[in-house]
Amino acid sequence: MVPRLPGHGAVPRICDTATRQLVEARPIAVADLYVCGITPYDATHIGHAATYLAYDTLIRLWLDAGYEVRYVQNTTDVDDPLLERAAATGIDWRTLAAEQTELFRRDMESLGVIPPDHYVAATEMIGQVADAVRRLLERGSAYRVDDDIYFDSAAAAASSPWHLGQVSNLDRPTMLELVAERGGDPERPGKRDALDPLLWRGARDGEPSWETVLGAGRPGWHIECSVIAQEFLDLPLTVNGGGSDLVFPHHEFSAGHTAALTGAPLANLYSHTGLVAYRGEKMSKSRGNLVLVSSLTDSGVEARAIRLAVLSQRYRDDWEWTDELLAEAEQRLASWSAWAARGRSAGTSGMLDGLRAALIHDLDTPAAVAAVDARAAGGSAPAEGDLTAINALLGIRL
Ligand code: ZN
Repeated sequence: MVPRLPGHGAVPRICDTATRQLVEARPIAVADLYVCGITPYDATHIGHAATYLAYDTLIRLWLDAGYEVRYVQNTTDVDDPLLERAAATGIDWRTLAAEQTELFRRDMESLGVIPPDHYVAATEMIGQVADAVRRLLERGSAYRVDDDIYFDSAAAAASSPWHLGQVSNLDRPTMLELVAERGGDPERPGKRDALDPLLWRGARDGEPSWETVLGAGRPGWHIECSVIAQEFLDLPLTVNGGGSDLVFPHHEFSAGHTAALTGAPLANLYSHTGLVAYRGEKMSKSRGNLVLVSSLTDSGVEARAIRLAVLSQRYRDDWEWTDELLAEAEQRLASWSAWAARGRSAGTSGMLDGLRAALIHDLDTPAAVAAVDARAAGGSAPAEGDLTAINALLGIRL
């Protein structure tokens, strides 16, 4: 439970990728948040933790501003990388997905991340996705290539309020490069545009598939998020969030599919978190340089220290995880804990106002952490309410 604080904070302003502006993330009534979830084939690394902690901070600010929050996260529990990993390790894909999903949720819990109201798995939404793809075919915003179905970007742009580049602001050569890097198939013969993404993959031997109105097959990735957001939240979302490697093609086309289906935008604000490196390179499964949350906690590192290490970085920056950074966070936690143990001093401290002011400005957690540092290093014990403010807004219980 997030403790309630006196009064209300202001509505946070965060950076919108589509307009490249700092925009007030103001809910219309309820704050509707959709953050893209994991493909469960490798446990939670610090890069994941950083993304979900950024939106955890946003949720805490909405709650503090007096809003109800509805939060949904998908789990891409059927996808090429998961199936490849399952095949390579000889584990059934369902078993692998279930194990890794469980580990991810445990890691999030240990970090004190507020859980979504709904975790929705792709495999729970097969019928809804197939129906959405059928409607796109009927409207001329999708086409078949053999047994597969693709989104027709040009047709969708002509008939909906979306156009290619609306979310990502990228030029075509960059889009082509990213699509090739990130699981797309620009070279496939029969596509109307090399950038058109897969909506539906027809059944293949040895791959899981479901019987649907489209025939046997399985969903593409972008349509999965579009449909889950439509099913569980009110559109436009207050914020659609994820790591910056999701800007293109994933969020661009989730927005495109949604506009083609509903005639309206997916989100009012598209937010992205920076990527985390380790030993000089982006943390990734293929490079084998993952720092897993569970390995750190298993080796005795306090989850609060991991949380503090992440919060000491700006969520939109790319940054590097280092042993020094963790050691610094452990030291900081020890110093804050010693301060918290000093009893209570009379009067108020301005801590709550300081934290609110820092965080509503594009989730400036490093400034918030510095504000607590300054208090903890000063002579006096915490004032009444200081520790509650730190717990509610930074998620660190002292
Ligand atoms: Zn997504």
